[in-house]
Amino acid sequence: MAYFSLAGVQVGQPITVKATAYCACIHCCNKNDGITKSGTKAVPGHTLAVDPKFIPLGTKVYVEGLGIFTAEDTGSAIKGKRIDIFMGDHEQAINFGSHNLKIFILEEETTPRI
Ligand SMILES: [Zn+2]
Repeated sequence: MAYFSLAGVQVGQPITVKATAYCACIHCCNKNDGITKSGTKAVPGHTLAVDPKFIPLGTKVYVEGLGIFTAEDTGSAIKGKRIDIFMGDHEQAINFGSHNLKIFILEEETTPRI
């Protein structure tokens, strides 16, 4: 159920999640090709890792204070109300630490407007 609608996009209820950050390195991903679970190349400021049971892959998510991301990756530690934000380098990801943040699920308006 949409919380409010903005420019044709339905915005969901705020959900508080624990957010951490990661990068494409071998320490964060056990591989270093930068390819997400969705098969796309991970992009800083765009790619979000989620629990696909909680947020389906492909979903656009507004992260409080950080902007709009696309759920396109997963992680072994990312279960339930956890998100992992993709960053350009490892130091940035480590410096981000761990925060409780509000997220909002964004959905394109599917019902025709009268
Ligand atoms: Zn890393």
